[in-house]
Amino acid sequence: MPELPEVETVMRGLAARLSGRRILRVHVARPDLRWPLPTRLAARLGRRRIEGFRRRGKYILMQLSGGEILLLHLGMSGRLLLGEGGRALAAHEHLVLETDRGWRLSFVDPRRFGSIDLVPTAEAEHHPRLANLGPEPLEPGFTPAVLASLLAGRRTTIKAALLDQGTVAGLGNIYACEALFRARISPRRIAAGLGLARVARLHAAIRETLTEAIAAGGSSFSDYVQPDGTLGYFQHAWQVYGRVRCPLCPGPSSCRGIMRIVQGGRSSHYCPRLQR
Ligand SMILES: [Zn+2]
Repeated sequence: MPELPEVETVMRGLAARLSGRRILRVHVARPDLRWPLPTRLAARLGRRRIEGFRRRGKYILMQLSGGEILLLHLGMSGRLLLGEGGRALAAHEHLVLETDRGWRLSFVDPRRFGSIDLVPTAEAEHHPRLANLGPEPLEPGFTPAVLASLLAGRRTTIKAALLDQGTVAGLGNIYACEALFRARISPRRIAAGLGLARVARLHAAIRETLTEAIAAGGSSFSDYVQPDGTLGYFQHAWQVYGRVRCPLCPGPSSCRGIMRIVQGGRSSHYCPRLQR
């Protein structure tokens, strides 16, 4: 499932190519994904100019002329594909936008956990999908004190608290595991009991993990689009997620390797020796 760094990379790829373009044709292949699509979506998107893009949590916001935002979430399996216009709809292509200069953007989602909404720009931050998101972890307002206040009183594990989009927007299972490893904090700890030193380490680790992942995702236009047209990237250089051997401990004499436990139905990967 795409998390903040992947969504940021997809968003930058879209911005590089589609900002300023005008939507000429729209194809809507079905009435719903996870939720019903906006009514008359094709007619409402037609002839709009794409003014720009931004990201909030795992959502992509496409700003359109006329004061509305197309709000996209890739869900579990969603992808955005950018190619050239003029071909027929393929399987699982639920929404296609064709623009001037010959671009064709399609939203492909076999499992249909993604979402597409059209919301007035002025009301976007109060929209149900965005209203309850926590702070953006890479923005200046996200400080150790803010993180401490978000974790105060939370009797869940720190892992569960980080997966809650109301704590920190955009973290998912992989980067929550990676940040906890970097901060040397066990995913089993109770969120409320972390203490200021651990909260400060976790705050730094979240920022570093996400910043490095975004940097690894590409720095030029061509990096953002894979050869098949898929926007974004899939990073495999994780420290603990999906790993068996611990990348930091010297060997079996000191560390039995990365442990996998299930918390709230999700896998947590951690080193019990380093993460306390
Ligand atoms: Zn270890």
